[in-house]
Amino acid sequence: MPTFSDLSRAAYCLRQCYYVRRDDDRAPPPEVEARRRLAFEYADRRDAADAILERLPIEPSPATYRAALDRLAARDDWDELADPSERSVRLHGKDCRGVADKLLAGDPPTPTFVSPGTPPESGVWKPQRVRAVAIAKALAWEREREIPRAIVEYPAYGVVRTVRLTTRNRAAYRRTVRHLRELDGPPPRVDDRSKCESCDYRTECGVKTHSLRSLLDATRR
Ligand code: SF4
Repeated sequence: MPTFSDLSRAAYCLRQCYYVRRDDDRAPPPEVEARRRLAFEYADRRDAADAILERLPIEPSPATYRAALDRLAARDDWDELADPSERSVRLHGKDCRGVADKLLAGDPPTPTFVSPGTPPESGVWKPQRVRAVAIAKALAWEREREIPRAIVEYPAYGVVRTVRLTTRNRAAYRRTVRHLRELDGPPPRVDDRSKCESCDYRTECGVKTHSLRSLLDATRR
C-alpha cells in the first residue's frame, strides 16, 4: 500500500516516485527534520530574541517570523496548532497509509502535514494538496466519519494553509492513486522540466538542466 509520501511524490513526478521506490530511498535529510521540528515550537518562538531565531532554520528575518507567529496565534485553532492533542499519528486508510504530524482536536478533528519547504504565494503546492487529501481520507476511513479538510504547515515561514476536500482536490488524489497502482516500470519524464532541476535522479533519468536549485525548492514534492 502506498504511503502519503509516495502519493505526494507521484503527484510531483511519477518517474521520480518509481526511482525512489525501486531504491527504497525515503529517509529525509537532517535539515528537513530540523525544519519540521519548528512546527512544535511556535509558542516558544513568538517572543524569542533575534539571536535565538537566527540560529534556527527559519527563512524570514526574526521580526517577520515573530509577526507570522502572531498571525498564527490569532487563529481559532492556535492552541491546538501550538500544542496538538495528538502527534505523529499513524493512519491506515483504504488506499494509502502514513503519519499525520498533528491531529488538532475538534468536531471533526483536523490532521496536519508539516512541510519543510517554502509555501506558494497562495494555497498549497499540488503534490502537498494530494498528500493532505490522502491524510484526511485515511483519517476519515479510520474514524468512520467525514474529514472535510487538512492543514499544511510551513513552519520555516510560520505559515499554515488549509486544504479542503473539494471535488478538484479529490479528483487529483484519485488520479494519483490510480497512476501509482498502474506503475509498472519507469513512466515517461515530466513535461515541466523545471521540476527536474532539484531532482536527485536527473543524471540517471538523462535529463539535462541549466542550474541546480536549492534543496528547499525540492519541497514542492
Ligand atoms: S529528472 Fe525530472 S523526469 Fe526524471 S525523475 Fe526527476 S523530476 Fe522526474
